[in-house]
Amino acid sequence: MSACKQAQPMVSFQGPPGLPSINMEPFFRRKDKVVFVMGATGTGKSRLAIDLATLYRAEIINSDKMQVYKGLDIVTNKVTEEECRGIPHHLLGNIDPNLNFTANDFKQHASLAIEEILERDRLPIIAGGSNSYIEALVDDHPEFRMKYECCFIWVDVALPVLNSFVSERVDRMVKAGLVEEVRRMFDSTAEAEYTHGIRKAIGMPEMDEYLRGEACGINDEETQERLLQTAISKIKENTCILAHRQLQKIRRLCSRRSWNMHRLDATEVFLKQRVEADQAWEKHVARPATRMVGNFLLD
Ligand code: ATP
Repeated sequence: MSACKQAQPMVSFQGPPGLPSINMEPFFRRKDKVVFVMGATGTGKSRLAIDLATLYRAEIINSDKMQVYKGLDIVTNKVTEEECRGIPHHLLGNIDPNLNFTANDFKQHASLAIEEILERDRLPIIAGGSNSYIEALVDDHPEFRMKYECCFIWVDVALPVLNSFVSERVDRMVKAGLVEEVRRMFDSTAEAEYTHGIRKAIGMPEMDEYLRGEACGINDEETQERLLQTAISKIKENTCILAHRQLQKIRRLCSRRSWNMHRLDATEVFLKQRVEADQAWEKHVARPATRMVGNFLLD
């Protein structure tokens, strides 16, 4: 038997004599299982989803609303091929960046991906920070709870610790080529409009003034440098605001009994370095999550 599919008992109910028997199979059928890895930006959701997927023959469906689009891989912090460790990822970087991929689109695409993954006898793991997408899939989609049993894992990190981590992450993104990536997507002839598709990603609107100044060539070097540093500070600030809002939304979901969220505190991981950080990851996140998913699949 596979990790995620359950044996499906054939049950029939013999009614009164003379009447045909009723096939009760749909009512008794064990539900297929889906795992969710949730958490604010920067907490390690992708890493945990990949860790779990390597152990449980799983495939990952991305639920970060900016990572679904093609492009801006650095800005949106997509997992690299190396980090994926051969685990198939769905809805990651394949949507036209000029389209507006809505929660409804996510519901449809994610549902299809779940079915395909189950067909392959694998476990679907949905991982990403866009809680409105996850909520739409699970709660505004009456069929979902009827069809699937869900295990919700929340990777939590104390906000002050997470804030300094995501700020440093922005510095690493800049070193990795964030400015050039946004520059390639920037159109100085168009109006400053950041309400559609991938243009909503944190990093795009913040860089507008700097890139516009660069394109018109009216500013001196010092002004441009100041605009760049302001843009980077704004990206850091907005990422911290995003983390805070995502956390509030998870807490709201947590307060609903039907969500039965399993919280893992990963703060220790962020307070340690290298080997010690990896050990803390194993102890506080990977091992407990592996146990949770193991029990969920056996249940
Ligand atoms: P909301 O309803 O506020 O959009 P949500 O739960 O649907 O919230 P979030 O993941 O919290 O979605 O994203 C909110 C906003 O944060 C996005 O519209 C985008 O501006 C920014 N954002 C989210 N993820 C990323 C990312 N990976 N890279 C850059 N910006 C992001």
